[in-house]
Amino acid sequence: MTRLHVSAGSEFGVHNLPYGVFSTEGTARRIGVRFGDAVVDLSATLGGDDLAQPTLNAFMAQGRDRWIEVRRQVTELVLSDEVDEGSVHPIDSVTLHLPIEVADYVDFYASEHHATNLGRLFRPDSEPLMPNWKHLPVGYHGRAGTVVVSGSPIRRPNGQRRVPDRSEPEFGPSQRLDIEAELGFVVGVPADGPIGTDDFAEHVFGAVLVNDWSARDIQAWEYVPLGPHLGKSFATSISPWVVPLLALEDARITGPVQDPEPLPYLRERRSWALDVDLAVRWNGQVVSRPPYSSMYWSPAQMLAHTTVNGATSRTGDLFASGTISGPERDQRGAFIELTWGEAEPVVVDGRERTFLEDGDEIVIEGSAPGPDGSRIGFGDVRGRVSGG
Ligand code: CA
Repeated sequence: MTRLHVSAGSEFGVHNLPYGVFSTEGTARRIGVRFGDAVVDLSATLGGDDLAQPTLNAFMAQGRDRWIEVRRQVTELVLSDEVDEGSVHPIDSVTLHLPIEVADYVDFYASEHHATNLGRLFRPDSEPLMPNWKHLPVGYHGRAGTVVVSGSPIRRPNGQRRVPDRSEPEFGPSQRLDIEAELGFVVGVPADGPIGTDDFAEHVFGAVLVNDWSARDIQAWEYVPLGPHLGKSFATSISPWVVPLLALEDARITGPVQDPEPLPYLRERRSWALDVDLAVRWNGQVVSRPPYSSMYWSPAQMLAHTTVNGATSRTGDLFASGTISGPERDQRGAFIELTWGEAEPVVVDGRERTFLEDGDEIVIEGSAPGPDGSRIGFGDVRGRVSGG
């Protein structure tokens, strides 16, 4: 038996305790909790059928009382001196897997700064925000089957793109491969109809970092009138650690004023706006720091909107915020915005850059305020681009 140690200032202290799925060489996938630089094997220490699983879905489906109970048990365990050494693995010794079996995946467009910037870039001759934008969180259905865990290689997609001054498109590898830095939310307890904003925490288990890889040339040609398709569906990366909503109480803030006031089903008694700071590293260099606190629509509003028509939900449903962009240039969460459609390149590795080249690695990090001055780390979501 041993006592676990965590360094002062760790973003994976006792107030965080995010869940993931890991394996060690020659062993099966199983659920673990990150504490400091270690992964604690929950199936070996706590037991329970819902924890002896290769994904978090069965545990997430149990509901908030079970989430609170397991979190209490894990807290007690990591603070005790009774942890079985065989159940503790250094973070460098494990392989991390996709933590959830993704049911459906919906991606929103909830940043006013991002939507305004993209409107100006894609439709320079009209109002940047569509008339619906401040009345509902705009979103589209993405592809659940190509959600991959951080570290998975990202192959450059092929597709059609417009050729200037020609009516016929050409086909080939995307030449405008981009990122979108986002926050994603995972449904634990489904419903057979609407989930009101007040019931958000009864249904949503936790949050992950998301990189919604985007091929802008494919997207620009295909997206009218039905929205993104192949420009997005080739890969969406998520972080391996799911930060429980229970760890984010101190990150709750009041969101931006919503004017006009949204319809009653989108109103919140207390906002689920969250103060999460992201950073985007391009080949190691921080090029942007998108603030989730600046998002117009909250995740509770997104889920309420997704279900208000009566659509059922499922355990493992993932919905993401859309690109997070703040008001400043160095707060933009996509390179098309950061470089203003290639007009204002950024310098990476001493060279002017706009879109991704083969071999580039993108790492998106995130953290939020926790109790007693602590930080709640989301870890990171990373991916390296390879040729198509
Ligand atoms: Ca997106």
